[in-house]
Amino acid sequence: MSAKIIDGNAVSAEVRTAVAAQIASLQSQGAPTPGLAVVLVGADPASQVYVRNKNKRAAEVGIASFEHYLPAETSETDLLRLVDQLNQDSKVHGILVQLPLPKQIDAQKVLESIDPAKDVDGFHPFNVGHLVTGGAALVPCTPLGCLLLAKRELGDLASKRAIVLGRSNIVGKPMAQLLLRESATVTIAHSRTQDLPEECRRADIVVAAVGRPEMVKGDWIKPGALVLDVGINRVPGAEPGKTRLVGDVAFAEAVKVAGAITPVPGGIGPMTIAILLRNVLEACCRLHNLPFHEVL
Ligand code: NDP
Repeated sequence: MSAKIIDGNAVSAEVRTAVAAQIASLQSQGAPTPGLAVVLVGADPASQVYVRNKNKRAAEVGIASFEHYLPAETSETDLLRLVDQLNQDSKVHGILVQLPLPKQIDAQKVLESIDPAKDVDGFHPFNVGHLVTGGAALVPCTPLGCLLLAKRELGDLASKRAIVLGRSNIVGKPMAQLLLRESATVTIAHSRTQDLPEECRRADIVVAAVGRPEMVKGDWIKPGALVLDVGINRVPGAEPGKTRLVGDVAFAEAVKVAGAITPVPGGIGPMTIAILLRNVLEACCRLHNLPFHEVL
């Protein structure tokens, strides 16, 4: 039997439509326009594409975007000064400093300078702490997208066994915390985990975030499991000189065993940007004491 293939583009569009509808409804009652400030230091082409995409999507749902393009040689002091201005700016409800930053800048210091109430990436230790202790946190976009997809597919996660492959601060750890918050029984695996295939085979939910092309094989998957593939890996394509994207899961094998699976591309990737917009809306609602309704 073949798994259901989850269309991340379609679900992302659904999330964006829900965000746009909520913004329109709040504005009709006199609420302010949510604002997202995106800061890009340097001219990394991949980062420029991400930033352009974020701004385009923000505009589509009614979020005002404020773009700050700084030269690669920007000093840490100047970047901290800009973040401070954005922290004070009442038109800005979300601040996103695009990573990676040039090496003269301490990225952690910059992330910690963002007002936690505007930290729409959810990387500030204040939000990390609240996620762990069960408080109201802004949560990193990619894992929150995975969680909303998992709940949409499976409903209540309380009786489920989940495995998260990877323990990074931006994906693996917050993912595990979110699943735990839903009372799933969670295993966190990493490069030192013994017998990963056997650990995986026990799981009803597999979240793969290791950055290793097609590492998770079909026979690692429990029949009927939900497989969420976060990995984005560029590998040589069929034709010389061409490349293609693959996930961390060997899709062609896993699709024959799983109950539902996200493809790469077109799975978790498009969800991430939709959740960023959701986070800007949530931050705006919190800052202005307005009601926020979950978008999926
Ligand atoms: P990191 O490199 O920060 O973390 C990778 C994690 O995988 C580490 O915890 C590492 O373990 C673990 N790992 C590496 N090799 C193995 C192995 N052989 N067996 C078990 N565990 C292993 O990556 P990120 O979390 O930032 O990203 C993971 C993937 O997700 C990447 O492909 C990235 O491009 C993609 N990504 C996709 C996003 C999206 O929007 N779809 C957003 C963010 C990331 P250890 O800690 O022991 O070293």
